[in-house]
Amino acid sequence: MKLSRFWICLLALLLLAGCKPHAHGEPCGPASRELTAMDTYMAMTIYHQPREEAEQSLQQAVGLIAELDELLSVTDTDSELYRVNHSGGETVSLSEETQALLAEALALCKSTGGALDVTIYPVVRAWGFTTGDYRVPEQEELRALLEKVDYTQVALTEEGVTLPEGMELDLGAVAKGWTGDRLMELFRSAGVTSAIVELGGNVQALGTKPDGSPWRVAVQAPEGGYAGALEIADKAVITSGGYQRYFVQNGETYIHIMDPASGRPAETGLHSVTVVTDRGIMGDALSTALFVMGREKAVDYWRFRQDFDAIFLSENGTAAITEGLEDCFSLCGEWEDRPMEIIRK
Ligand code: AMP
Ligand code: MG
Repeated sequence: MKLSRFWICLLALLLLAGCKPHAHGEPCGPASRELTAMDTYMAMTIYHQPREEAEQSLQQAVGLIAELDELLSVTDTDSELYRVNHSGGETVSLSEETQALLAEALALCKSTGGALDVTIYPVVRAWGFTTGDYRVPEQEELRALLEKVDYTQVALTEEGVTLPEGMELDLGAVAKGWTGDRLMELFRSAGVTSAIVELGGNVQALGTKPDGSPWRVAVQAPEGGYAGALEIADKAVITSGGYQRYFVQNGETYIHIMDPASGRPAETGLHSVTVVTDRGIMGDALSTALFVMGREKAVDYWRFRQDFDAIFLSENGTAAITEGLEDCFSLCGEWEDRPMEIIRK
């Protein structure tokens, strides 16, 4: 007992001694920050950077997340998005940030044939997902709300955005991916070469681990624990799954990802879709959209675009990956011996 305490003290001293000369300028261990923003747990770690610089970058990152949250929150009455959603049909001028995000989000709504639809908010709210007052709306109510869901009616020009009266935007499907991209930009311009951020179901990695090996990113299993692990460098790994937010009523589970065609939670037999891309905004938009499409349509879409990879975990306990992930994804834990299909072009 005494001996082990001795060794722990010695180890601590050695670690401290090892760090001290590096404190001003030389890389010294990882620097991390955890926070809750955008209604989500977030964590960021910078490696291989002088401590003071890493801390400064993390501080800036926290500020950037807060700024984006203030712009894009759908519930905060002071947010830019709130102003847009309560504009009564008037044109609202936007910050450069929101303008750029919205332009990209609308392009992704179009590209996914409306599986992603940023005007879904009236429906999302009716189910109680932003307020926590969960309920199952009547078919009639959904039919009326769906008249307010149509991204093609959003007019975005240099003057700003104009929404038909009663229409409301929800950027929840893309905001975290956008935020991840902005964090990567910030870190890169601060000279960071090795960092990883986790924003809810989104993981974005800058470079490799400090020793040059790839990051290992786990993919969650429906029953808890992990179904598989990915080895990546300089990528966004973004997962959408019903398990991330849902409520249960009379034994039925209702998830937060909506099918804009029906106004009801998407039911496509998928547990989750993970998209691996260079850019978080695209990964975030596509993971939500592919979940809505279901596996078959999602695979057609992948064949058509070919600029991302995906992992599909089905509710029936099977896995499928697109061929680009063949050498960097493996099933693990209870999923290790399950069938895994490789989807080819
Ligand atoms: P994600 O977690 O990225 O899949 O995004 C899900 C969130 O985006 C939900 O909590 C809703 O706020 C919103 N959302 C749900 N369904 C859709 C959809 N089909 N298109 C756009 N946003 C959606
Ligand atoms: Mg998304």
